[in-house]
Amino acid sequence: MLFGSSFDDCLIATKPAPLGWIARLTTIGWNTPGIDAMKREAIPAFRSTGTRDQKRDQNETHSSPKGGPDLSTAEIENETLAHERKDPSEYGFLHSMESGAAVDGPGMRFVFFMSGCQFKCLYCHNPDTWKLHNGTYIDIDGVLKEIKGYARFLKFAGGVTFSGGEPMMQAPFVGAAARAIKDKFDLHIALDTQGFLHGNVEDDWFDPFDLIMLDIKHINPDTYLKLTSQPLQPTLDFAQRMVRLKKEMRIRYVLVPEWTDAKEDVEKMADYVASLGDLIELVEVLPFHQLGTSKWEKLGMEYKLKDLRTPTPEEAEAARDIFRSRGLVAT
Ligand code: SF4
Repeated sequence: MLFGSSFDDCLIATKPAPLGWIARLTTIGWNTPGIDAMKREAIPAFRSTGTRDQKRDQNETHSSPKGGPDLSTAEIENETLAHERKDPSEYGFLHSMESGAAVDGPGMRFVFFMSGCQFKCLYCHNPDTWKLHNGTYIDIDGVLKEIKGYARFLKFAGGVTFSGGEPMMQAPFVGAAARAIKDKFDLHIALDTQGFLHGNVEDDWFDPFDLIMLDIKHINPDTYLKLTSQPLQPTLDFAQRMVRLKKEMRIRYVLVPEWTDAKEDVEKMADYVASLGDLIELVEVLPFHQLGTSKWEKLGMEYKLKDLRTPTPEEAEAARDIFRSRGLVAT
């Protein structure tokens, strides 16, 4: 709230937005909890391209990444067949992109939402990202072209985030794309992942990534399995591996009433996260919401949590306090 009330005024007064941000944020710095709060409040004011929430359903025409043709579903299937014959480090399936994302890493982010996820989280608000081949494809040059116009701004204002879906579903491409971005623009790069597939890549795959944003869905293995359809242990192994590789981490924890909000579960999670040590930059407690309900319906899938309430602000803050009581920074 320190900056919140005056921030909308700031945006109105400093259009075009990126220049306004440059002036404002150069003065006060990006990577502070106060700035994160400002960014959350400012999201509607930003121009975005092809966000997950704007993603078309399967029966519509799919827009290819900027500069490419629009593709019908049939054409995408043909393109998919073509893709499968190519080196997977050269082409990736992209669900969507966002050029002004404010909640997907420190500062302002250019986000590549990659298609594909092997989890089936009950609370997923982007089930349309699950199928790998529902995305349009993009190559490394396409990734670099998308970023080029923003690179100077992102250099000091934020960076690039690979999210999804689960970006490690396409590890060869995401690793190559991150390395190309690092080599060409030297930007801060974050990986938003649940870590499950880390065993498929070597340690040096992580070299281009400056920050790992690790979603840990639950700390109890049985509940984790019920909630996600997958076992917990690979994610915990991933966290330990990131400690060994000395990677800075943000932990993301979705607070879901009746599922993840029991005080003893949050305490156990906080103890675990604290045990990871000084590499934990931040814990983000993300209150469950119902914004993805329509996507489940459109896909003809049963959404089991459709009647679940959202946590109150007080409940979210109480969960954050549990993390804070372990010496962690929580927002
Ligand atoms: S890991 Fe993320 S994208 Fe995959 S099902 Fe869970 S919430 Fe959805």
